[in-house]
Amino acid sequence: MFEEKAACDSLHAYLERLGHELDRYLQFEHKDAMHQPGRWQDPLTRPLPTRGIGIDGVIEEIGRYLLPNASVIPRPGFSSFITTGATTSALLATLAGNVASPQRYSLTAFNFIEELSLEWMREMFSLAAGMKGVYSSGGSTANLIALGAARQQAFEKLGTDPSRQGVNRTCRVYASEASHHTLHRAAAVLGMGRASVINIPVDRQGRMRVDALVAQIDRDRREQPDRLAVAIVANAGSTDTGAIDPIDDIAGMAGAQGIWLHIDGAYGLPGVLDPEKSNLYNGVHKADSVSIDPHKWLGAPVGTGATYVRDRSLLYRAFTQEAADYLEGSFSDGQARHSMDSLGIPYGDFGVELSAPSRGVVVWAIIREIGVEGLRDRICRHNGMAAHIARRVKSHPDLELALEPTLSICCFRYAPAHLKNPDEVNRRIHRQLVHNGRNIPSTTTLHGKLVIRPCFIGARTSWQQADDLLDEFLQIAKKLAPGPA
Ligand SMILES: *Cc1c(COP(=O)(O)O)cnc(C)c1O
Repeated sequence: MFEEKAACDSLHAYLERLGHELDRYLQFEHKDAMHQPGRWQDPLTRPLPTRGIGIDGVIEEIGRYLLPNASVIPRPGFSSFITTGATTSALLATLAGNVASPQRYSLTAFNFIEELSLEWMREMFSLAAGMKGVYSSGGSTANLIALGAARQQAFEKLGTDPSRQGVNRTCRVYASEASHHTLHRAAAVLGMGRASVINIPVDRQGRMRVDALVAQIDRDRREQPDRLAVAIVANAGSTDTGAIDPIDDIAGMAGAQGIWLHIDGAYGLPGVLDPEKSNLYNGVHKADSVSIDPHKWLGAPVGTGATYVRDRSLLYRAFTQEAADYLEGSFSDGQARHSMDSLGIPYGDFGVELSAPSRGVVVWAIIREIGVEGLRDRICRHNGMAAHIARRVKSHPDLELALEPTLSICCFRYAPAHLKNPDEVNRRIHRQLVHNGRNIPSTTTLHGKLVIRPCFIGARTSWQQADDLLDEFLQIAKKLAPGPA
């Protein structure tokens, strides 16, 4: 008899034990993982187990070796890059989906709220009525899917099907210098090549220059008329500084030229909820496609992105797998009376994943828990924190503001008049901040200068973290680079 050895039940008891360990992790009192890494690397480094230790042993090792030596990303003071830990309802919803709806397809409540949650986000972020979405693993994939739709439309206008026949002419994707680098990879995967992405210069605020965009498109049309303009990509919150391109101007221009407009709102689309910022998003409803990363500002676990398009059948034509014998015939032709009578909306044909978790339940839970008002509060708090840091920086004689914040990113640096090598000093202040572990911003280079770049998106990141970051920064700065005696 070969009996199953893996536990498949008793979640209540196991979750209680694991939950206890996770709550302890969330106190953030343990030392950093790289403080004596031998403590956990040595005991974890075992030969391939022939016999298992059982689930109790696994929970015990997670608590003993993994959690105390895990990531700093969920910490309240973490403001590096654009990433954060998930909120509790989002985590619980993920688990519920993993248990009860391991796939997003078939006619279940989970499949139903996949669509409902996409519709809620569409409305919440003021996207055009009728736009439909599909979830994927994150912004990179969401952008890839959007460009797939753009490519499909551009070639279909010429009478060919690029998803079937491939790409037979030089393509152009116009995106600002500040656009996300994964666009190049998306263009490569879609057969257009990285070189098809043309970076348009930005202004001092990091926004795409529409005059330069128009000039580039004109030049391309003149010099090589058989080049195909596939898409213009506008940022609604650039990764580096949170800059928002002049979306309405770009939309007018894209509409006039008949070029697909994609808006990359992976980070910044939720910023439209801030009444002081919403006018920056004018024109978003004119986009042909939009991407948003619920795993950033909305606090979903990493692995949750979404793409919206006006016509989802375009996605179907761009990403369909063609018929499969093991699927055809598995479903009822008539009226569905059982959840397995249909796959439901065929999300697996609208992107590049077939098997995929139920992600809609996560977004549904996030919005259901705190509503649009709760999310608006978070977004306004974080935008306000960046503005608050900017005000303090401007009124401090030793600090320099690199850029007025657009959303929740603020770029600044230590630059007293006597300082000879500000890049080096700011780099050292930054390393010290990170090693202290209380405030963990990242850096970037703006207008040739190294700057500190906190990006506030974490639900655990409260208002006082803004002052705390700046106070600690100044303390370290004064110690590392004291002023002239
Ligand atoms: C984060 C980000 C991406 C990439 O998203 P991932 O979820 O990391 O794949 C793309 N575009 C923008 C503007 C982003 O901020």
